[in-house]
Amino acid sequence: MNTCVSPHQHAKFPLTGLVPQELAEFFVSIGEPQYRALQLFKRLYTSQQLSFETITEFPIALRQRLADLAHLYTLTLTKLQQSYDGTIKFLFHLHDARSIETVLIPSEILGNNGTPKRRTLCVSTQVGCSLNCKFCATASLKMKRNLSAGEIIEQFLLAQQHVREPITNLVFMGMGEPMLNYDNVMRAVEILTHPATKLLGSRRITLSTAGIIDGIYRMADERRTIKLALSLHATTDDVRTMLMPINKKYNLRELGNAVEYYYRKTGIPVTYEYILLDGINDRDDDARRLQRLTRRVPSKVNLIPFHPIDFTNPQGIAAQLRPTPPQRFYAFHSRLRELGVTVMVRSSSGKDIHAACGQLALSNLSSGIAAY
Ligand code: SF4
Repeated sequence: MNTCVSPHQHAKFPLTGLVPQELAEFFVSIGEPQYRALQLFKRLYTSQQLSFETITEFPIALRQRLADLAHLYTLTLTKLQQSYDGTIKFLFHLHDARSIETVLIPSEILGNNGTPKRRTLCVSTQVGCSLNCKFCATASLKMKRNLSAGEIIEQFLLAQQHVREPITNLVFMGMGEPMLNYDNVMRAVEILTHPATKLLGSRRITLSTAGIIDGIYRMADERRTIKLALSLHATTDDVRTMLMPINKKYNLRELGNAVEYYYRKTGIPVTYEYILLDGINDRDDDARRLQRLTRRVPSKVNLIPFHPIDFTNPQGIAAQLRPTPPQRFYAFHSRLRELGVTVMVRSSSGKDIHAACGQLALSNLSSGIAAY
């Protein structure tokens, strides 16, 4: 429950991100009937480019009053970049002059109508990030703040307004660690999957974590039905701690136990993300350890090419990371298959516009919007 559902404490009150009960409290607090809440809730998430003037179910006086008291959207789209492969990167400005990036990735597989079968939106959950993973451009921004549930959902709503076909999947894999903003992320999930909005089914949403095991246990205990992905990227604690300092707090053994607990509670297979780094985690021993680590529960491994982050001026180990050469990359892939691991290769969609996995760092803030 949002602790602050009073329009009197802010110049303008943000309405996106409130669940129906909270919207009802809002309407009651301004002397309006509760049933307005469900009307607004449906319009907010099912209408394109909604404004208060277009909510014709409401009397004109109420529409004007709402326009004075509240905001429908707080994000402003300030830049759109499209890759040659169809990937689109959105730059959004927030109400406090900070910025975030969101990426829409069309699948390479086409559906019956000749358009991409899936369109996956990679959403940010924090401004910056505190976890300092060495292969990730977002780490260079440091942690600024959590996004509200409304700011998370608005990325979906505003991105959808700029593409003709429906967004089919959503991954919490953009800027930030979603488990460190758990309540707002789950509130966003509840709204996106709410029967009145029907924006996405829960199995079309994936939360990716660097390994915050408290969050994994909580998702399991709450029987969350969205999918879980784990950024693994190493098969020994030494290497993982070097690449991902969070491993000092939650090591591989504890992570494995948490993932097993999650699977026992939810029955949902897990995805492991594994960026291949030249000479660091791409040897035969790694393939064998990776097989042992991931066989504890039904799972698949996504192998990801490393996308250079030179544009963030990385220091120390981060400056030394190199992608595994293609020949060794595919040899590692084949070895995992021989070992019985379900393994996929994740494409480098959007690399040319710094929109590929690990590259989100607000690298070009100048504005520019075209219609797609
Ligand atoms: S990989 Fe994720 S958790 Fe790690 S620094 Fe980047 S955004 Fe944060």
